[in-house]
Amino acid sequence: MQALPNFINGKFVPVSNRPTVDVVSPATGEILCKVPLSTAADLDVAVSHAQEAFNAWSSVTIKQRAAIMFKFHSLVDKHANELAGIIVRENGKNMTEALADVAKGNETAEWATSLPQLAAGKKLEVSKGIYCEEIRKPLGVVGAIVPFNFPLMVPFWTIPIALTMGNCVILKPSEKVPLTMQRVCELFIEAGLPDGVFQVVHGAVEVVTSICAHPGISAVSFVGSSKVAEIVATSCRQRNKRVLALGGAKNHLVALQDADAGMAARDIVASFAGCAGQRCMAASVLIVVGENPALIDQIVSAASALKPGQEAGQVGPVIDGIAQKRILGYITDAEAKYGAKILLDGRKWSQERPQGFWVGPTILLHENKTDPALLDEIFGPVLSIIHVNSFEEALEIENNNPYGNAASIYTERGANAEYFTKRFRAGMLGINIGIPVPREPFTFGGLYGTASKFGDFDVTGDGAMEFFSNRIKITSKWTSSYATGPATQGNMPKRASQEGLQDKANFDGRM
Ligand code: NAD
Repeated sequence: MQALPNFINGKFVPVSNRPTVDVVSPATGEILCKVPLSTAADLDVAVSHAQEAFNAWSSVTIKQRAAIMFKFHSLVDKHANELAGIIVRENGKNMTEALADVAKGNETAEWATSLPQLAAGKKLEVSKGIYCEEIRKPLGVVGAIVPFNFPLMVPFWTIPIALTMGNCVILKPSEKVPLTMQRVCELFIEAGLPDGVFQVVHGAVEVVTSICAHPGISAVSFVGSSKVAEIVATSCRQRNKRVLALGGAKNHLVALQDADAGMAARDIVASFAGCAGQRCMAASVLIVVGENPALIDQIVSAASALKPGQEAGQVGPVIDGIAQKRILGYITDAEAKYGAKILLDGRKWSQERPQGFWVGPTILLHENKTDPALLDEIFGPVLSIIHVNSFEEALEIENNNPYGNAASIYTERGANAEYFTKRFRAGMLGINIGIPVPREPFTFGGLYGTASKFGDFDVTGDGAMEFFSNRIKITSKWTSSYATGPATQGNMPKRASQEGLQDKANFDGRM
């Protein structure tokens, strides 16, 4: 089986003499393709082409770049079913989830087409005859490193906005799901994107390390686990590169006594079990304030009804054997070592479906607050439930967790919701919503200073516009009759009491 080619300077280029890794179907365990582990030298070739392409790409107008993005957006839309089919095969999502991956990702491309309206500069006469102007210039060649869990949407958090702002992008897809982006390269060719403006270099650690170290790459956008996010951010900062590295999550949901139990239960199950729990916005911990057996019963009953599979409404497999073993390990240890009660046990799916990597929705009721299942990111379809006596206790648990991606509250009282949004510590907060993902034009990202985010700005929306451009400040002075001439040519009309002021204006204009 031939390894996938890289996409270099507008063409698919085979990568010879490099080790490869297998891309395995999460649903069946069969080998789908091989990915080459490209090297620093392979990246170097891509950077040279990108640098060459940058001059022309950054020189055309933003409207011309947006026009290509508009065509690209239409093509992604036209091929949505085909792209979703690839996602189902390589990532394991069900078809509905895969279509949502495409649709949500393509919303970023749609938003990028409005950048000509949003990225306009500003200009002001700051002193007589002296103008300050601010324009946005692209950064140059930028690197994007992405995880496995959204093969299209997460790369699209970077690509369309970075390109439309005039940058050239080198993407390293996840080596676990490289196929979706191969098809996206073909759509870029069809949309008329010039050679070298968008390139793909497949690989793993060496490509990531080289992207961070390469002097020809100005900025790096990373999404993945906290451990790697921190490595990437540290490496880029040492080299004075702009970096945004989004990391992992442990999202807490708080249910108050006045919550609408039916709505909360449906939402919470969709949040923790959807995409087999492999979402950075998934519910991980449900903190129930006071006793609420009706809510817990409804959650367990809704989750018990879920079936394994890749049809709409079913729960797909987790990404690979390593992930499956990790998730099963957390469940087993929670029960055996930390005394957690298993309200719903998804371990049986792994026995019932030995082909592929299946774990069913699992619900743990914890007493022991030191249980790693309650504290670590599991990244699988597991919900931890704990009871507390007060809102303040819930606040303390959420605020003391090292992550800061998302948190949600279920309540029917506005005052409780208001208190929650003021005091809880996460970058994305939800009120009566299980997956509080902000959509365009809003930006997406966790909280600075937590394990969920290293670096600057946000992905998507105006946070991304800011990330992918430099603000250039231009100050100019023109000695013209306007600046120095008589009042009839534009100086401030005189009033006797303002003579001094008028003289000052003229003087400043000549400085
Ligand atoms: P990962 O960190 O293992 O991999 C992400 C990328 O880093 C991949 O391209 C991979 O090849 C590369 N990589 C892996 N190990 C590396 C190393 N030691 N050195 C350099 N590069 C390395 O993440 P994953 O398992 O693909 O994805 C799941 C993680 O991503 C979860 O932690 C999830 O929370 C996180 N995630 C976060 C967000 C967010 O918005 N915060 C969104 C999606 C996923």
